[in-house]
Amino acid sequence: MKPKQLQSELQDLRTFSNPKQNLEQYATTPLLATKLLQVASVEFNDIEEKSVIDLGVGTGVLAIGAKLMGAGHVLGIDVDADALEECKENLEMYEPELEVELCLMDVVELIRRYDNEEDEDEDEDEDEDEAVSVKRKDYVWPRADTVLTNPPFGTRRKGADVAFLAAAMKMAETAVYSFHKTSTREYIEKVAVKKLGAKSAKVVAEMKYGLKNQYGHHRKDEVEVFVDVWRIEPSSSKAKKDADDDEKDEMFEQNLRDLAANIEELQLSARQRKDKERNKNSRKNSDNRKKW
Ligand code: SAH
Repeated sequence: MKPKQLQSELQDLRTFSNPKQNLEQYATTPLLATKLLQVASVEFNDIEEKSVIDLGVGTGVLAIGAKLMGAGHVLGIDVDADALEECKENLEMYEPELEVELCLMDVVELIRRYDNEEDEDEDEDEDEDEAVSVKRKDYVWPRADTVLTNPPFGTRRKGADVAFLAAAMKMAETAVYSFHKTSTREYIEKVAVKKLGAKSAKVVAEMKYGLKNQYGHHRKDEVEVFVDVWRIEPSSSKAKKDADDDEKDEMFEQNLRDLAANIEELQLSARQRKDKERNKNSRKNSDNRKKW
């Protein structure tokens, strides 16, 4: 698909109807998403027929773009059930429906629990420490050839940006593509290479991101932020260590099944809430009509 065509397809998608500030929900613009996907696909061959994870999928612009560019299996992960529901509605706009698997997961919490090696020496209860280290070894991360993410920049939940990168690198077989503010370039390189052991970390595109004033804490209607598109290669030894064998595959499948059960429940309760509201409103309307 040509970039112009992809961009106009992505233009038709709905974005967060009630963006949540604490989760730093900013939709990637179609222009930005197209740029990332084009570089990943054309320059590095990281999309077509590759498995892809969109980390912090939101309403799905990157996952859907990847699918439209010919990706194989695509998995979208987010902590917000409402966003996942809106993403599902975007997928359903296609005929046939676009196949993107969705899963509810708190990436920051997972990294905190299973990968926080620096916390190991903190003065917690010894038994607890032991329990955590057992779990840490056992946790099986979902994996894909390519991980795409427009992560929280870590302004609301400190460290969320680094946690996202850490998780993305655990999940990626070949490459992670991530947006970060240009002003944090040196820091991101240090984190990726020194802290997280990346084989390489390169800025592959520079863009301007027009952030809409959706939360009312900026003085202007739109602020321009300069962002870099990064391509980060996780270290190959780590990829090998974390991957393979049947047992792990099985555990991964089980994880997904548990998450799927969980998400259905959450979506159901979100739907019930909506239905209740709708009933209330229609009752109100009919009451009003009676008065007339
Ligand atoms: N990928 C979408 C959304 C980007 S905004 C797009 O490009 O338009 C960041 C997304 O990360 C939001 O959807 C938010 O809900 C999600 N997010 C924030 N914290 C998270 C966490 N701890 N675990 C998983 N997802 C999280």
